[in-house]
Amino acid sequence: MQKLHNYILGKQITGDGDGQILYNAVTGNAIATASTQGINFEEVLQYARNNSNTLRKMTFHERGLMLRALAMHLRKHLEKFYAISYQTGATKADSWIDIEGGIGNLFANASLRRKLPDTSFCLDGEQHLFGKQNTFMGHHLLVPKEGVAIHINAFNFPVWGMLEKIAVNLLAGMPCVVKPATITSYLTEAVVAEILASNILPKGALQLICGSAGNMLDFVSSQDVITFTGSASTGLMLKSHKKIIEENVPFNMEADSLNCIVLGDDITPDMPEWEIFIKEIRKEITVKCGQKCTAIRRIFVPENKLEDVQQALNKALSQTTIGNPLNEKVRMGSLAGIKQRDEVKEKIQKLLASSQIIYGSLDSVTTIDADSEKGAFISPLLLLNENPFNSPEVHEVEAFGPVSTLMPYKTMDDAISLSKMGKGSLVSTIVTTSEKNAADYVIGAGAYHGRILVLNNECAKESTGHGSPLPLLTHGGPGRAGGGEEMGGLRGIKHYMQRVAIQGSPSMITAVSKVFQPNAKGNIDTVHPFTKYFEELKIGDQLITEKRLITSEDIDKFADLSGDHFYAHIATTDFSGTMFEQQVAHGYFIMSAAAGLFVDSYKKNPVLLNYGIDELRFTKPVYPGTEIYIRFTCKEKIAQDTKDENDIPKGIVKWLVEMFDDSNELTGIATILTMVAKKN
Ligand code: NAP
Repeated sequence: MQKLHNYILGKQITGDGDGQILYNAVTGNAIATASTQGINFEEVLQYARNNSNTLRKMTFHERGLMLRALAMHLRKHLEKFYAISYQTGATKADSWIDIEGGIGNLFANASLRRKLPDTSFCLDGEQHLFGKQNTFMGHHLLVPKEGVAIHINAFNFPVWGMLEKIAVNLLAGMPCVVKPATITSYLTEAVVAEILASNILPKGALQLICGSAGNMLDFVSSQDVITFTGSASTGLMLKSHKKIIEENVPFNMEADSLNCIVLGDDITPDMPEWEIFIKEIRKEITVKCGQKCTAIRRIFVPENKLEDVQQALNKALSQTTIGNPLNEKVRMGSLAGIKQRDEVKEKIQKLLASSQIIYGSLDSVTTIDADSEKGAFISPLLLLNENPFNSPEVHEVEAFGPVSTLMPYKTMDDAISLSKMGKGSLVSTIVTTSEKNAADYVIGAGAYHGRILVLNNECAKESTGHGSPLPLLTHGGPGRAGGGEEMGGLRGIKHYMQRVAIQGSPSMITAVSKVFQPNAKGNIDTVHPFTKYFEELKIGDQLITEKRLITSEDIDKFADLSGDHFYAHIATTDFSGTMFEQQVAHGYFIMSAAAGLFVDSYKKNPVLLNYGIDELRFTKPVYPGTEIYIRFTCKEKIAQDTKDENDIPKGIVKWLVEMFDDSNELTGIATILTMVAKKN
């Protein structure tokens, strides 16, 4: 039988002994063994830390491009991954979520590089000025942690579960050790084998353990980060590990949660939202055979619609064809293993203390092209609980399979209270067309859910659904859901970076951060900065312009040209009781006049185009007779990739535009963006 490899210490190693036997979830046949016996976990973690320099020193752009290359590489091996995925009981649609969803996550994180500087670290938030003389300031900097990210994952998403996490730590510049749940680790192993064979990642950036984590957690240290996905009980045991507490190792936990959906009291069976509601529930019960941490476990409907919903759900669920995922007729595969089926049944028994089964059977299931006993098959099960305020089980017990409980509510306030009885969930959905219901629910229940989907006909076609965490939104939830947060676009990378407050002079903060800070020393050159190519420009390159007199006639002309005849820009306005003393220049006119002063005219130069303004503030009125001048400084440079051989090599340059009046006071400030050609 195949012995799974542990990819550690730059080698592929099979553990000692017989190992744990892993089974095909559909046939029940043994397919591989996994063992980590004999592995020195201290060495594994140290190997990652010792080799982390390359990754840490790469810039966000280099790391992002690496993720993109990895995603493109993995896409070439989809067929192989799908073939293995069927053995976990997953249908093609289920496998798509796991495999291509995971690869999509790599792409999404790769694209995030465009929002980050071309350095290995980045600034976080805004600068703070502390001194009146502008010589002392503070900022926050994020630097990659120097430890290793340890990902302990659940069995249900062997690919996505790994990729959604490593995408983020790799983008942040941290190496990782992945420990998938053993029973489905044969699929994770196949993907890691391809990742490592591609040689896209630097040495030590990714190690894989197939089997028990042994005593690995005894060797964690303060620069490490642990993420855990799995049951609340395992999570609690792990996060109370002595070494984790002693070393203050961040522990991000995503645990089981009792996610819910609410049918708004405005929805009736003749509305399109009714069908949307029913379909969403059927999907959540049957996709991945209900083995999704985000699956809908609790369904709340207005009490006068309980019967109609029950009938509609029974009809929808009766269309579920169950069996061998390789058979095209099959819509729902099996659970991941016989042990998991036993566990689900045990949990359902607990739920039955206060609920009754209204669809499906605990004892039998009709399967296509598969043995329903040897394979880990189970029928979809819909339960009814008519007294949800007095039934703790339904808000506490997660049956990790195709199981959900229908419950009535009287008022929207009751629906909010019931949704909160889960004591923290990953996601909740409300199906409504009422803006009031949506606002009441989101604000009323928001503190108890990691994500809330407001679903109706307006967004249903494009909606990614209740169950799909998205790379750009945080995934996680409070309380029972573990209190963790994953992904979330730029928020995610912060879990793997240390935020360090830096204080000093603006010039020093500029030198450290590679982003020009207002009031730092500039470099005034004999040549105009617009004559410099991307590579030649230095942060702090500065131009102080000539002065320009702003006249009343200029303001009148700008008002006519733009059509902006706001009273403050009209000379004949009676200014008593206004914010102004007399006719005031349009802020946009001052910004345009600024461009007239700082742009190097007529001659072609490396600046390809101006493509916008990031921030623009008008800080003091400019009256006719004022002479303005501009301090124009190269603030930040972001290299860009070329799309094809016809594309011009270029980068984005951000410029700080400070607009002063004749008393040297700031009248406005802006950050403008230009595209600047590279010399080579
Ligand atoms: P589990 O039994 O808690 O296992 C989770 C992970 O912890 C597995 O990799 C497991 O490895 C590992 N583990 C167990 N004991 C350990 C130890 N002493 N040291 C280090 N690692 C240890 O959960 P599961 O059965 O795989 O997953 C199902 C549960 O996960 C469900 O309750 C589901 O709701 C939850 N889940 C939550 C999310 C989320 O994002 N919130 C996502 C998916 C699943 P072994 O396999 O080797 O035991």
